[in-house]
Amino acid sequence: MTDKPDGAPNRPLRRGWTTGACATAAATAAYTALLTGDFPDPVTIRLPGGETPAFALAWESKGGAECSAGVVKDAGDDPDVTHGALIIATVRRGEAGSGVTFRAGEGVGMVTKEGLPIPPGEPAINPVPRRMMAEAVAGLAAQFGDAGDVVIEVSVPGGAEIAQKTWNPRLGIVGGLSILGTTGIVVPFSCSAWIHSIHRGIDVARANGFDHVAGSTGSTSEQAVQRIHGLSELALLDMGDFAGGMLKYLRRNPVPRVTIAGGFGKLTKLAQGFLDLHSGRSQVDFTWLSDRLAELGAPAELVEEAKGANTANQVLTRAVAAGVPLADLVAARARAVALGVLDDCGTDVEVLVFDRKGGLEGRAGFEGGGARVLILGGTSDAAALARGLSGVGVITSLAGRTKAPAALPGEVRVGGFGGTEGLTAYLEERGITAVVDATHPFAATISRHAEAACRLRPTPRLMLARLAWDKQPGDRWIEVDDMAAAVAAIPAGARVFLTVGRQELAAFANRTDAWMLARVIDLPEQPVAGVTLVTGRGPFDLEAERALLVEHGITVVVAKNSGGTASYPKLAAARELNIPVIMVRRPALPPGEVVGTVEDALDWLKRR
Ligand code: NAP
Repeated sequence: MTDKPDGAPNRPLRRGWTTGACATAAATAAYTALLTGDFPDPVTIRLPGGETPAFALAWESKGGAECSAGVVKDAGDDPDVTHGALIIATVRRGEAGSGVTFRAGEGVGMVTKEGLPIPPGEPAINPVPRRMMAEAVAGLAAQFGDAGDVVIEVSVPGGAEIAQKTWNPRLGIVGGLSILGTTGIVVPFSCSAWIHSIHRGIDVARANGFDHVAGSTGSTSEQAVQRIHGLSELALLDMGDFAGGMLKYLRRNPVPRVTIAGGFGKLTKLAQGFLDLHSGRSQVDFTWLSDRLAELGAPAELVEEAKGANTANQVLTRAVAAGVPLADLVAARARAVALGVLDDCGTDVEVLVFDRKGGLEGRAGFEGGGARVLILGGTSDAAALARGLSGVGVITSLAGRTKAPAALPGEVRVGGFGGTEGLTAYLEERGITAVVDATHPFAATISRHAEAACRLRPTPRLMLARLAWDKQPGDRWIEVDDMAAAVAAIPAGARVFLTVGRQELAAFANRTDAWMLARVIDLPEQPVAGVTLVTGRGPFDLEAERALLVEHGITVVVAKNSGGTASYPKLAAARELNIPVIMVRRPALPPGEVVGTVEDALDWLKRR
């Protein structure tokens, strides 16, 4: 390609060499010196396409058992942070039969994440440069009758600092640069290196199980996206101008959700159908913008003025002042273009339009609003809430206490998060936009963790806790603060009906001076000595509860003040039969907004 991005007149641009080609030249010179005692300078290598360029050496060093050579990277006219870097290869003998092995020296990174062409734990020297170096070694070994078992250590002095300006930290490549290149040649302004990095970013996001990535046109948009979604660093793609490069790769390698974020001008071009948003390769069409204003019913003078505007932002400023949602329409059109490229591959798109300061001007959300609500469940209210949302954008989390939980719409995950820290990380990884803590009022630990996690990774949180039961006339309640007090309150010789959950039974079993009947959802793995078990899952009915209390000659009921209707009939039956109830009060809720009904929780979510 010979076009300059700013559209200036063409001139042939100088090609350059990749870090992989430079490392191959350096390794060839160093291995030759190890075999012959002399460094070839210039040193000639063969590129994958068959070309045989020569490189001047900028560094030579000969030790007893190893030789080093270095080449200064000339990236040609490609704007590249590694231009001018010294690429050094040190070659020393390896163990017999080891073949060629690679080490990362100073300034060359190590791979730490899945998803790259090189597995974690290996130096970030890509497959093609490895092959080029191995082939150079094989050729020389054959020529000089050597076994060719060598260790090649590639280093780039200052590479660790340079790497901070590359995608490496984001791709999980730590400590330095990557040795890259598939052809050995840097084609000026081909932009292929950039697009390549977007692709690797998608690979890494997929390999790490992310279901939401964000491609931004620049750093302002990226920071703004982070304020909204708080994604992992590994889920951020430096899309730059290459919307097409990102979307076409996602079509073949889908991630469930992608946010495209950018300024109004760039995203107007996407909305017009351009996939390359560079100013040299696509232009804002002011007639198109004017037509959109007309479509939105903007005042005639605004529609007219837009046709002659200088910049897209000028049009936007006027539209905002007139209260015309132009940026929302542009976002919607851009989303439609992106979805067209993705071609039903399973990736949904959100488009966010920001102003120059990162303020959100327009938005076209994911299907279903893009909200990702985490319901902390394990209760019938939590299940009703997931159903109320039809499972769209909903993840219900269960502790895993119940063997066969009721089927739920939406995604269901099971098991602890690993404390506050684990839950905070989960909110981050899954891009959770709101948490509803609908756990049982007695599940105090998870509620505490949810409060802390939503504070640490600022996430709106609501507690859904049904109202506690109130003592009614005729009730004989003995209210206690915790299970230990409930155990202590049982009169000697009592026949007790326990409805406190499987986890709590052991403490009651110690009261060998009373007879215990416990109702549980699932039988415990081991029988609990001294406790007779019945299974049952609410809702219960009054008649059956009355019959159960009478049949077993129950003289005292122990219950948690759970609230709700499903398990209330036992209390009504106890009242009728004049049986005392040892009622365990609820632990205090953590601070935060509380609603008592599923309807109110649905309302709260709708308002967000
Ligand atoms: P808890 O004491 O508050 O929590 C203990 C640990 O279990 C938590 O630290 C957490 O592990 C994990 N956990 C609890 N709820 C979870 C959820 N919804 N999703 C993922 N992990 C969860 O809870 P619990 O009293 O044992 O109750 C466990 C579950 O049973 C709750 O979901 C609750 O809604 C349900 N439930 C409880 C009762 C009751 O009387 N306690 C009655 C009916 C239903 P990590 O720290 O590893 O994240």
